[in-house]
Amino acid sequence: MDQSANIVVGSHIWVGDLESVWIDGVVLNITGEDAEIQTSDGRQVVVKLSNLYLRDAEAPATGIDDMTRMSYLNEPGLLHNLATRYGINEIYTYTGNILIAINPFQSIEKLYDACVMEQYKGAPIGELKPHVFAIADVAYRAMINYGKSNSILVSGESGAGKTETTKMLMCYLAFLGGHAASEGRTVEQQVLESNPVLEAFGNAKTVRNNNSSRFGKFVEIQFDKNGRISGAAIRTYLLERSRVCQISDPERNYHCFYLLCAAPPQEREKYKLGNPKSFHYLNQSNCYELTGVNDAHDYLATKRAMDIVGICEQEQDAIFRVVAAILHLGNIDFAKGEESDSSFVKDEESKFHLDMTAELLMCDPQALEDALCKRMMITPEDVIKKSLDPLGATVSRDGLAKTIYSRLFDCFEQFCINYTNEKLQQHFNQHVFKMEQEEYVREEIDWSYIEFVDNQDVLDLIEKKPGGIIALLDEACILPKSNHESFAQKLYQIFKNHKRFIKPKLARSEFAIVHYAGDVLYQSEHFLDKNKDYVVPEHQDLLSASKCSFVAGLFPPFPEDMAKSSKFSSIGSRFKLQLQQLMETLNSTEPHYIRCVKPNTVLQPAIFENATVMQQLRSGGVLEAVRIKCAGYPTHRTFSEFLSRFGVLAPEVLEGDYEEKVACGKILEKMGLKGYLIGTSKIFLRGNLMAELDAKRTKR
Ligand code: ATP
Ligand code: MG
Repeated sequence: MDQSANIVVGSHIWVGDLESVWIDGVVLNITGEDAEIQTSDGRQVVVKLSNLYLRDAEAPATGIDDMTRMSYLNEPGLLHNLATRYGINEIYTYTGNILIAINPFQSIEKLYDACVMEQYKGAPIGELKPHVFAIADVAYRAMINYGKSNSILVSGESGAGKTETTKMLMCYLAFLGGHAASEGRTVEQQVLESNPVLEAFGNAKTVRNNNSSRFGKFVEIQFDKNGRISGAAIRTYLLERSRVCQISDPERNYHCFYLLCAAPPQEREKYKLGNPKSFHYLNQSNCYELTGVNDAHDYLATKRAMDIVGICEQEQDAIFRVVAAILHLGNIDFAKGEESDSSFVKDEESKFHLDMTAELLMCDPQALEDALCKRMMITPEDVIKKSLDPLGATVSRDGLAKTIYSRLFDCFEQFCINYTNEKLQQHFNQHVFKMEQEEYVREEIDWSYIEFVDNQDVLDLIEKKPGGIIALLDEACILPKSNHESFAQKLYQIFKNHKRFIKPKLARSEFAIVHYAGDVLYQSEHFLDKNKDYVVPEHQDLLSASKCSFVAGLFPPFPEDMAKSSKFSSIGSRFKLQLQQLMETLNSTEPHYIRCVKPNTVLQPAIFENATVMQQLRSGGVLEAVRIKCAGYPTHRTFSEFLSRFGVLAPEVLEGDYEEKVACGKILEKMGLKGYLIGTSKIFLRGNLMAELDAKRTKR
């Protein structure tokens, strides 16, 4: 669309200064391709016409709350609109049926109060200000009206506000479908209280977010026929395991370690814990405390939440014993033994931590030392016990710590977290763009194709079978002689011309993938190791023999025939399967989208960085969505859906013996509305028409 053709003398425009910085101005003169501009900050500049964007001078000073209704849809206009609204604490803005939520990094007064929930309850979308509650309300009503599952997909980069947004959604759904307080501990309370528990064990401070979720989450809330909550399930995906034993300044390990070190004295004494600075797994970084967070208080809060979720006192004790054991485990150092390539627990201090670990895990200290320092080797002739050198024993120790923690969390790494986003992004693209376009074609409505960021190529790169990264990784894990360098070399060779794959200059084992949100660098060193979700038999035997039934339960013995059939299932492939199932679930629902946006990289309130926001809007496909939604008719309803909902507006039409399509047309005609199309099986409505029709139906 060549918009510069409409720029004339007197036009209000945006003129670009630096990248993503725009100034408004008025065109004074046009000579050929050049325009002379009076800018609002008092300068006169000459700019190429093609670098100017039309500006709606009549747009309200408080911004427009649905960007699909903006007169001129260009990047500076959208940015300006979002920035204006953000400046007056309007953090939510619609783009058709997508909600954009810009992280305020401060609490906004009364934004989520009970009385606000009350207002949004049953209010037609668009009648009140944009809000997460409005999206949850639409999804809830759609479920009730059409008896179909709905899903709300919350996306955005780290620190954009996904976790907070999800909590608000859950609060609101609990409010709509909740039970009376007299009914005792309710499902919705349990669902809500699962948040602090999961955050204590799955969240950590990173450079990008002080409370970053290091796992993916899928929350399912079930409702009965009356719209009351009847059940819930929370599935988590892929915990970042490496964080347990490796952190770098200024990040932190998982919150639970610090919480436990701040527990009341008698509990600290029981777990032999003290200053977090004395533990290797915590003191690799200089960050221990978080501003605005009181670990002692959060410890008690986590325990209370565990109570509500239904984790009994005994299980809580076992859980915290495992957490403490991991800290002690990390402090066991090894020294070189007398025989070559052997090692033993280094000194008295390490011995103390070894004993503590064994005591807390309720296993035999000698068995623990053996499990750390020795390995069984099975050769065709014999089974021999081989000693590990100090480095090998340390790797074994860290492996054990990661295994125990991830079993505790019941999951799974950065690579896969990005992978999840990629999958969800595709789902979003598919729904908003592909589906919409195909539907227009099916319905024989004229539609000009709009290009969008298709990330099928990233997914192919990762998951194609055979030949994708996961398949190659599985192969590398099975082949005895492969190592991370040979794995990386293979990737370089196979993907050298792939536009989503980058081999950094001089790299020998690193590679980067161009994800939809930007490039991410991966170290193949960690890759092979991470992909082997293989618990060494020594560790397995040690812990399944624990006298603590909780610990032993984390390591159920392998069924004999399973162990024999060496069917190899790597984390990557298994995760892929999980994700496929998630996609199937999502595809069977009516989706709603919330795009969280991080307004700045310093995590501070009231700072709106244009370039940061723009990059997120671009990569998230928001700009394309705006164009499509505006050009199109965002609400689609099948004839029968439409008739069952709006037939009441014209009972005489229902009584007449019309074809469905004709009947729909008659109703719309009677209502005197503008802005609809009738396809071969569906009605297409512009922006707010559904709300208008609903309002008429309610007032009737
Ligand atoms: P990650 O991918 O790292 O888990 P995230 O998208 O889940 O990131 P959040 O943890 O939800 O990000 O948000 C980061 C921080 O931003 C929060 O800890 C909170 O301080 C602030 N924040 C986010 N949303 C809101 C909100 N609606 N109101 C007030 N503060 C918010
Ligand atoms: Mg989060």
